[in-house]
Amino acid sequence: ETLDKGLEKSKTSFFSKLGKAVVGKSKVDDEVLDNLEEVLVTSDVGVETTLKIIGRIEERVARDKYVGTDELDRILREEIAGLLEETHSGEAAEVSLPEVEGPYVVMVVGVNGVGKTTTIGKLAHQFNQQGKKVILGAADTFRAAAIEQLEIWAERVGVPIVKQRMGSDPASVAFDTLSSAVGQQADIVLIDTAGRLHNKVNLMNELTKVRRVMQKVIPGAPHEVLLVLDGSTGQNAFEQARQFTRATEVNSLAVTKLDGTAKGGVVIGISDQFGIPVKYIGVGEGVEDLQVFNKYEFVDSFFK
Ligand code: GDP
Repeated sequence: ETLDKGLEKSKTSFFSKLGKAVVGKSKVDDEVLDNLEEVLVTSDVGVETTLKIIGRIEERVARDKYVGTDELDRILREEIAGLLEETHSGEAAEVSLPEVEGPYVVMVVGVNGVGKTTTIGKLAHQFNQQGKKVILGAADTFRAAAIEQLEIWAERVGVPIVKQRMGSDPASVAFDTLSSAVGQQADIVLIDTAGRLHNKVNLMNELTKVRRVMQKVIPGAPHEVLLVLDGSTGQNAFEQARQFTRATEVNSLAVTKLDGTAKGGVVIGISDQFGIPVKYIGVGEGVEDLQVFNKYEFVDSFFK
């Protein structure tokens, strides 16, 4: 239900464009395919993924000779679900992480302002509700506000936070956080990191160092690197995904702010283009407004 509401703008915009793309047409022909290509690109699905989808529909048209425009909804839904299938395996109803020996460590990366802190707070809340022992690490030491924001979330959710002064070494904060997590037998560690993209070499060096130090405390950590992207920025989100995947290994994505935007198509394009599953989507500012991404629900909400 929140998902439907969260995606409303994307859906409305998509359907109005799709309607215009087929107006006066009963058969899917080259003109309809051209229009459809434009609909997908302007819905922020991304050029590469759009061409892939169009190519698949072209194949169908060639094979079946006649495809009615009234079937386009269903065909699109199938093709998009098929694309998401390639990056998304099992579907979980609630947040869950694999069992590991000791705490499961998630390093959260992303540019400032995308909703990184909020996503960490929401995740901490949901894991906490499940009775998991969560610890936060404030390794974005570059901005005082980042540490303060994370503290506010820690208090709100009722989980401990490990922090140092602004300007201290992020790797040192990560070290402290993981040591503390081991000592307290925590289940889950969520580490916030700085998201400065203007200096790629610095970013890469910093993230590499944080990872290396983590491994000294917990071999295998970080178990997951979660990249947070602001869905409302459309093509910018693609660019950020490109930069971060070059700077460090990224295992999962969270796409935020889908509630306020018509750019929900980014979810489809980004997971396809980077081959990384979207694990969570943000559909509001509240603590409950983070959902586990489910490809079937997503496609259904989009096309309902
Ligand atoms: P950070 O700098 O990446 O840590 O960003 P914050 O977590 O501080 O979030 C920046 C702003 O985006 C805040 O005002 C959040 O409330 C807002 N925000 C985060 N996620 C969402 C979301 O899913 N939907 C909406 N509408 N706002 C969000």
